[in-house]
Parts: sequence; structure tokens; C-alpha cells
Amino acid sequence: MKLTNYLVIFVQLLVLTCASPVLAKSPQQPVIQSILDDAYHKFKNDTSGKNADYIPALAKVDSAYFGLVVVTPHGKIYTKGDVNQPFSIQSISKVFTLALAMEQKGPQTIVDKIGVNATGLAFNSVTAIELNKARSVNPLVNAGAIATVSLLDGNNEKAKWSALSAWYDKFANRKLSVLEDVYKSESDTNGHNRAIAELLTSYDRFYGDVDINLAVYTRQCSVAVTAKDLAVMASVLANNGVHPLTDKRLMSSDNVSRVLAVMTTAGLYENSGQWAYQVGLPAKSGVGGGIIAVSPGKFAVAVFSPKLDSAGNSIRAQKAIDFIAEKLHANIF
Ligand code: GLN
Repeated sequence: MKLTNYLVIFVQLLVLTCASPVLAKSPQQPVIQSILDDAYHKFKNDTSGKNADYIPALAKVDSAYFGLVVVTPHGKIYTKGDVNQPFSIQSISKVFTLALAMEQKGPQTIVDKIGVNATGLAFNSVTAIELNKARSVNPLVNAGAIATVSLLDGNNEKAKWSALSAWYDKFANRKLSVLEDVYKSESDTNGHNRAIAELLTSYDRFYGDVDINLAVYTRQCSVAVTAKDLAVMASVLANNGVHPLTDKRLMSSDNVSRVLAVMTTAGLYENSGQWAYQVGLPAKSGVGGGIIAVSPGKFAVAVFSPKLDSAGNSIRAQKAIDFIAEKLHANIF
């Protein structure tokens, strides 16, 4: 072969390597870390959106916080920004409560008693209950999520909460606490969620006492997490149900696939279709400003930034995860 041919092959190899940053270097630290750094700087000054204010305590959170974390199935953790700042998990909790309900009752119970179709409507929609013959429709919107709490084992609030919080702790690999001010603020103002639970009860789609289950649901939403906690929790889903930091299996792999399916269809509420189209990763948002996304077998990412769009999804978290997912070639479709 002529020298020029060797040169062409060399250049082609170089281009291929650079185009695929994850494969380019081993170990991966410098690549993932620099992608996080880039995402942070790219979106740091984006001030669009606004904090949730229908829960008064959330309106008071400093909206400048911006934290990004990636955890790999090998348990490597990459961080940038405000990754140790506690905030309320809000609706991201629904993913882990769904996981527990599936482990306790089996996946078919979720289909039969809650439903797994997208509503295409706002997360706290009452119209969705009225429009759907099955009534509750999805474990990741408020109606289905509160009903999922009512399915969990435990006869009273204390028993239910201690099992549920111990379950969350296993995912976080540490003892999580509750932001009592958020819990109180939401408890004092959650007439809408109470109405949803009462309505479901009237349709026989609620499986326990309204007061007890509403209290447990409100408490699960008030759990304090950091962006790092969320990424660690989500990494169990990225690692097929086995915790990357402890090597313990927390969920069956079958249930992981089903949770990820529901996250894909409903994790960002009425914007889930657009999210799947643009980013292509199962994800879940919370009105506290967190979003988790999972690239099965590759990584979990969590971003915290309190300002939301009109659907209740953090704007900077969406942008940052979109950027990170694209750079890491993570789109599952
Ligand atoms: N606790 C909130 C509620 O029930 C959760 C909503 C959310 O994060 N989208 O309204």
C-alpha cells in the first residue's frame, strides 16, 4: 500500500474516534466530565421559566441552582454545579413508588388497577379521569400516582411510609429525610389532589383510605434529595435493577423495562411525546426542578434547576439532558 493510503486510513480512524466520544477514550471520565462541564456553561445563564408556586414553599427556592450528575452502571459518578443542594423530589418519587407497587403486586396489577396509557393532559388533570373509561390512567400522573400509593402494602400511614421510605433509601444508598416545610406547605394546599382521590374512590379506582394515602403521597413528594441522590437512584434503572454501588438487585429486570416504558410515555406529562422525539430517553420530572433520564446499560443522569415550563418540567434540566444525551449518543430509538 502507498503511504497516502495509510494516511487516508489513519485520518478516517481519527474522525471515527472523535465522532464517538464515549468510545474514544478509556476510561470515560474525561469525556463525560467535559460534557457535563460544557452543558453547565452552555445553559448556566438561561433564566427562562419560573418556579412552581402552587405549592408555596417551592416558590421560595433559589432558582439559580443548577446541578448535573451522571452515574454509570459501574458506579462512576460525575458531577457539575450544585449537586449537593437538597430539594424536594416531587413527582420523580412516582417512579420509585411504582417500582415498589410492581414488586409487591406484580406488573399486571398496575395495568388492571391503575392503567399505563398516557393522558396527554396536565399532571393533575381531573378531566383525564372523566374522559377515560378506565378512570385512573397512569402511575406517573397525580391520579394514578396517588392510587398507586393506595395499592401499597401496609394498613396504616406509619406502616406504609416506613416501607416506602426504606425503599427509597435503598435506591439512594443512604437515609433520606423529608423537607417538613414542603410537606406542610403542600398538605395545607392540596385540595386538588384530595378531590382527585375522592373522585377515584367514587369510581372504585382507589384502594384505601383517602386521608392516609394522600398523606403518604404528599410525604413522598416532600422527600429531600440532591441531584447526586437522584442520579444514583436512577442508576438502578440504568443497570437493569441492580444497584451499581452495592451490587444488590432491587427490582426484577422485567419490572425495570415496564417502569422505563411508562416513563417514556408519560414521564414529562403532556410533553412526553415531544421529549421522546427530541431526546429519546425515558425520563421523569418533578415540580421541585429535578429531572432524571435513563439510558439503559449506559448511564443515568439527573439535573436540578427550579425554573419550569408550563407543563411543570424544568427548562434547564431538559436542555442539559438533551445536550448530554446527544453528546453521549444515548437516544434509545
Ligand atoms: N406533589 C406535586 C403534586 O402532587 C407533584 C407534582 C409534580 O411534581 N409534577 O402536585
